[in-house]
Amino acid sequence: MKPRLLTPGPTPVPEETLLELAKPVTFHRSAEFRQTLAELQEDLKYVFQTTSPVITLTSSGTGGMEAAVSNVLTPGQKAIVCVAGRWGERWRGICKAFGVEIVAVEVPYGKAVEPSQLADALAKHPDAVAVYTTLSETSTGVGHDIRAFGEIVAKTPALLVVDAISGLGVMELRMDDWKVDICVTGSQKALMLPPGLAYVAVSDKAWKCIEANTASRTFYFDLKKYRAKLAESDTPYTPANTLIKAQRLSLKRLRSEGLESVWARHAKMAAAARAGVTALGLELFAEKPNNGLTVIKVPANVDGNAVLSKLEKKFGIKLANGQDNLKGKIWRMAHMGYIDQFEVLAAISALELVLLESGYKLEPGTGVAAAQRELAK
Ligand SMILES: *Cc1c(COP(=O)(O)O)cnc(C)c1O
Repeated sequence: MKPRLLTPGPTPVPEETLLELAKPVTFHRSAEFRQTLAELQEDLKYVFQTTSPVITLTSSGTGGMEAAVSNVLTPGQKAIVCVAGRWGERWRGICKAFGVEIVAVEVPYGKAVEPSQLADALAKHPDAVAVYTTLSETSTGVGHDIRAFGEIVAKTPALLVVDAISGLGVMELRMDDWKVDICVTGSQKALMLPPGLAYVAVSDKAWKCIEANTASRTFYFDLKKYRAKLAESDTPYTPANTLIKAQRLSLKRLRSEGLESVWARHAKMAAAARAGVTALGLELFAEKPNNGLTVIKVPANVDGNAVLSKLEKKFGIKLANGQDNLKGKIWRMAHMGYIDQFEVLAAISALELVLLESGYKLEPGTGVAAAQRELAK
C-alpha cells in the first residue's frame, strides 16, 4: 500500500529535497554554508514578500511564535490576541507564560475574527503593544483577512504579528504591502520540508520595538543576535544545516513555479476539495475556509475516529483528526505544499468508499466527479 500524507503538517517532501537530506553532514562554519544561508535568505524574502530580514530558528513553528512574544513584550505590557481556534490559543498561552496582559478577541471555533472586532479592541486599548493573529487557523480551516488587519493596525503604534505557519506558501500574503510587522512560519507545512525550522520575518517598525525592549526575557530566541549574525550570513548557534540546505531545494521549486501560480494552484485544489465533500452531502466546518485545508464536519451517525483509521489502514490515506474537543467531530484534509490534485481526488474517493461501508448513503463517484468538474474549470 502506498502511504499518502494529507495532514496539515507535516506534509510530504519533494524527492529532490529528500535526496539532499540523505547527503553526508558537513561543517557549518564555511564559506560554502554562508553562501547557502545568503541564498536561503533571498528565497525566504521572496516567499514572505518582504525586504526585511527573515530569521531562521532551529525549532518548530511555536519557537518562532515564542520569539515573536518574548522579544517584543515585557511582563505587564498589553497585547491583543485574536482567538478563533487552537492556534490563537497558542498565542494566548505564550503571552500568558511571559506575563503579558492579554486582551482576547474571541470568536467561536469555525468563525473568523472580523476586522471591525480588531478595530474596536484597538480603539479600547490604545496602549496595546502588539496584535497577535493567525493567517490560516489550521484547527478549524478558517482564514483571516490579514490585509484588512494590516490596514487597521498600521494606523496605530501597535505591531501586527501573524502566525502564518500553515498559510505562507498557500494563500496570498504580502508582508510589506499588507503592513505585517512580524510574520512567523514553520518548515513542515507549505514549505515542503520535514519539521525542524521556524522562520520569523521582522519589519523595521518591529525592530524598533524590539531594540527599545531592553528588559526582554529571552536567550536562545534573542532575535537581535540572529540579525547581527545574519548580516554576515552566519548564525549565533549551530544551525540545522542539513535542513537549511534541503530547504533551499524546496524553495527553488516554489520560486520556479512563481508565488502567484502557487497561490492559484492551492485555490483550485481547495475549490475541488470543497466541491467534492459538499457534493457528498458533507458540511464544511469553517465559515470562511482557507485554501490550505478542508475541514469537514463528521456527519451524524458516523464514527469520525473509525473513518480516519479505516482510511489509513485500508487505503494508506492519512487525514488529521480534530484537536482537543473537536476530536471525532471533524476531519481535516490538507492540500498544501507537495500534495497535489490527484491526492485530493484519491482522498475523496477513499472517503466515499469508507463512508459507504459505514452505512452513509451516497452514490459512488459523486464527490470525485464534483471535484473533477472544479479542476476542469
Ligand atoms: C502547525 C501550526 C502551528 C504549530 O507549529 P509547531 O510547528 O507544531 O510548533 C502553529 N500555528 C499554525 C497555524 C499551525 O498550522
